[in-house]
Amino acid sequence: MAYAYDPQNIFARILRGEIPNKTVLETAHTLAFRDIAPKAPDHVLVIPKGPYVTFDHFCAAASEAEIVDFTRTCAKVCEILGVEDKGFRAITNAGEHGVQEVPHFHLHILAGRPLGRMLDMSEAE
Ligand code: AMP
Repeated sequence: MAYAYDPQNIFARILRGEIPNKTVLETAHTLAFRDIAPKAPDHVLVIPKGPYVTFDHFCAAASEAEIVDFTRTCAKVCEILGVEDKGFRAITNAGEHGVQEVPHFHLHILAGRPLGRMLDMSEAE
């Protein structure tokens, strides 16, 4: 697997403090912040601080400490958002077919309203 990481992507710039963000939670290896264009009342992006392009890249190349930190941070974000009662959706887009806009791995956590069926194929036909 040979993913080339672009250090000028917008999430890399957020991690360097060049662009502000609405932080929900920050840990040693992970940052969770509010999406700038929320698709639900709660829309949080969870990103590793390391240079990983996609979910599979992160899963294959990240250290165990980074992976544990990331997953535990996701759990804490869910707790902060209070999703246990009504539920939520976690999505990660990768590459061209996944319509990934920002080439730094991120998990979308969406909550706060009914989210419909999993895939809206209207843009894919
Ligand atoms: P994706 O299509 O999965 O790559 O999603 C990228 C997400 O990043 C979109 O939901 C954007 O609204 C969000 N986004 C882009 N720029 C920013 C930013 N500066 N702060 C927070 N979220 C952003």
